[in-house]
Amino acid sequence: MHPVLARQLRRLSLDRDTPPDLTSWRRFLERVGRCYADADDDRYTRERLMELSSHEMSTLHQQLRDHDERRFQALLAGSSDTTLVFGAAGQVEFVSSSATRVLHLATDELQGRPMLAFVQRHVHPDDAGHLMAELQYLLDTAGREEVVEFRLRRPDGSWRDVEGLGRNLLSDQAVRGVLLTLRDMSERKQLERELTRQAFSDQLTGLPNRALLHDRTEQAIRLAGRHGLVAALLLLDLDRFKEVNDTLGHHHGDLLLQQVAERLQGSMRDSDTVARLGGDEFAVLLPKVASVQDAAGVADKLSAAIEAPFTVDGLTLDVEASIGVAAYPDHGASANELLQRADVAMYAAKAAHLSYVVYDPALDRHSPRRLGLLGQLRRALAAGELVVHYQPKAEVRSGRIIGVEALVRWQHPEYGLLGPGEFVPLAETTGLIRPLTSYVLEAALCQCRGWLDAGRDLSVAVNLSTRCLLDLALPDQIIGLLEDTAVAPERLVLEITESSIMTDPARALEILNRLHALGVQLAIDDFGTGYSSMAYLKSLPVQELKVDRSFVQHLRDNQSDAVIVRSTVDLGHNLGLRVVAEGVEDEATLGELASLGCDSVQGYYLAKPMPEAELVAWLAAQPQPVAAHD
Ligand SMILES: [Mg+2]
Repeated sequence: MHPVLARQLRRLSLDRDTPPDLTSWRRFLERVGRCYADADDDRYTRERLMELSSHEMSTLHQQLRDHDERRFQALLAGSSDTTLVFGAAGQVEFVSSSATRVLHLATDELQGRPMLAFVQRHVHPDDAGHLMAELQYLLDTAGREEVVEFRLRRPDGSWRDVEGLGRNLLSDQAVRGVLLTLRDMSERKQLERELTRQAFSDQLTGLPNRALLHDRTEQAIRLAGRHGLVAALLLLDLDRFKEVNDTLGHHHGDLLLQQVAERLQGSMRDSDTVARLGGDEFAVLLPKVASVQDAAGVADKLSAAIEAPFTVDGLTLDVEASIGVAAYPDHGASANELLQRADVAMYAAKAAHLSYVVYDPALDRHSPRRLGLLGQLRRALAAGELVVHYQPKAEVRSGRIIGVEALVRWQHPEYGLLGPGEFVPLAETTGLIRPLTSYVLEAALCQCRGWLDAGRDLSVAVNLSTRCLLDLALPDQIIGLLEDTAVAPERLVLEITESSIMTDPARALEILNRLHALGVQLAIDDFGTGYSSMAYLKSLPVQELKVDRSFVQHLRDNQSDAVIVRSTVDLGHNLGLRVVAEGVEDEATLGELASLGCDSVQGYYLAKPMPEAELVAWLAAQPQPVAAHD
């Protein structure tokens, strides 16, 4: 290059990096060429002409810069992103014109405003704090880059999801600010949400699906484990749903399932999860319940909710459900275990035509005959197949018959007389234990009334299951029965076990105190087989301890049994309680118990449990019939 030309170029600070504008360059070079031609040997003229052209060069340069700026602005305006630049003091210094088109931000309103004003005016209140902190951090940290997501208000008040890429370019002479590039993410977020929803929800009902239920169950178990809570899973299967599909078609079947879903959800709290697992199978997760009994109460409520008729396309449909209940920590420690156990309980409920069954390890072992019995129990109660037998109890000192224990039997049309062990534990897994206990209580108190009327002063003891002991309605039910039969409360003895008290000690104590206040007698049954502490026993309002038969039967041969019985008698007496020995089968044992100071006895040596008519005859045959005091 000619040195004069090179000098001119340097003077104008043009170099090879300047964007070439070929037309301008060509014109320039032609002019230079003409200069050379016109003043071939005239250096002065040449130099002068070069000076003139430098003025044009400078104009040309300015034009190029203007062109670049326009092109830059056009690119920004056409971009789908919006660019903001905040100055060192945090004020908005630049807003790209795309802001109006893409984000509906008024650029002139923003210009010069503080960062905080922008955030307060346009950003979702829940995101504002985080965004301000990020922006401040960007401003304070040279060279920093951050990605931050937040929501921007739309003109209609709804929110759009925005991703902001922030860069601290304060030290960049061309920018001297924090650059924030905003991109509208609403569509992508919406898609993400939709994909998540599809992956975790049931298409027909919109309820959570099996995958989401599994996740939430695992989460509930972890939480319950940490805070010592009970989490329960209820599995619900509609009975005879196939008939609806077969008779009315899948369309009506689907409509029914949607209504069932709505009704289930309407019956539950927001914190509970109602899920559809497929077909006509639903599940309900109760992440926080006080006890398994409470979960059973929810099952009862759900089954009642389902039993109200449904109207599908003008048709009234009656639906019933079988529900299986399993709870952490009693029945399983993982979501899979709880689901599997709730499933076992649900099938037991189905087999037995019951609205619900609480899982019990015994269910896994039960023979079809047992499950069949469970199914017949409700009918048996209505048909009067359940009968109450009475076993006498005598005072050791006087030999006087002071009371009886009411024991339920099932006079089964096919299997004959069944003992309580065959059906009471099964009834305990269902709501049937309540009507069963009510039945025994009522029979026993009516009988007691009859004995009193006949001049016999007998107390009557009734065994209470865990479920019934923890039933807050029990005291009122007992008040009603005592009033109806006009039996004095102290003639009723309620036998409870240590383990049922320990299921929920606070609640058991509350109910026991209420029963005690009524004047009803309370006895700890099967004493010695439970695990309650002696200290705890002191706080219970009980009047009687019944030493379990397993210690009494071998009392004379087994030294350790003798020690247990002796210390139970001592302990009971120290606490001011009567001590009754169960399972007394011979005279020698009775003698031993008398020497240990035991107050009363019960067992085959005295009499086995017998129907009421037999009892009356037996009592009449006793040497000293006892006269009633009232
Ligand atoms: Mg008993």
